[in-house]
Amino acid sequence: MSKGFLVLVLFLFSPRADAGEVSLEGNFIQGGLVIGKTEPGNRVELDGKRLALSTDGRFLIGFGRDAPDQAVLNITGSDGKSDRRTLNVATRQYKVQRIDGLPAGKVTPKPEDVARIKADNAGIGRVRGLDTADAYFAGGFIWPVTGPLSGVFGSQRILNGKPKNPHNGTDIAAPEGTIIKAPSDARVALVNDDMFYTGKTLMLDHGLGLTSVYAHMSAILVKQGAMVKKGTPIGKVGKTGRVTGAHLHWGVTLGRTHLDPALIAGKMP
Ligand SMILES: [Zn+2]
Repeated sequence: MSKGFLVLVLFLFSPRADAGEVSLEGNFIQGGLVIGKTEPGNRVELDGKRLALSTDGRFLIGFGRDAPDQAVLNITGSDGKSDRRTLNVATRQYKVQRIDGLPAGKVTPKPEDVARIKADNAGIGRVRGLDTADAYFAGGFIWPVTGPLSGVFGSQRILNGKPKNPHNGTDIAAPEGTIIKAPSDARVALVNDDMFYTGKTLMLDHGLGLTSVYAHMSAILVKQGAMVKKGTPIGKVGKTGRVTGAHLHWGVTLGRTHLDPALIAGKMP
């Protein structure tokens, strides 16, 4: 993890600027999430792409694993005049593990498993496509479980020269049955008792395209569609799906962009 990234940046645009005051709070680093606030009704664009704005003027910026080191934020007021800012994004080094000489073709899923994996991914994709206008996340984030980190965001394995998908979440080791808490207010967006890779799987919708996933659980304690508060028990740690030991895989995504949950939750208590 690189040191020295900015944890809090507050930009006060000129009081005469037409977009009004803008605050940006979060991690300006690859994998980081930034929560912005501006005048309701302003138009907010990042690198030319319009961002969702809640009715109270909140918006979210997510920097992916390999995000470029600069992004341009453009905020346009109701009179059409704009404020433009360049955001500097710190870059990171990720753990890369090369394993060569593996027997070929050992991990090809069976046809019936392929169909299941497709259905699982479609469900996950639907949740990541949500654009709920409420900023449920506004009360901030806590760790859903505490314990040693057994897997970090962004790490990657290269098997027989073939790069696999980078690890897109944080793994927290904890005994089977440990209560998992909602890290932030949310609506329960997906409950699945048996996904191929991730076993008992739960997804939460935190609003404005921010969602989170909880995998390998031994029990799910909430129902699809329910509203949960930060700290509400949502499940129990387990080892369901394709895993070797009990842990929580926690992923956070803004739209289709994977973010680093460990940055969002901050220092573990
Ligand atoms: Zn994981």
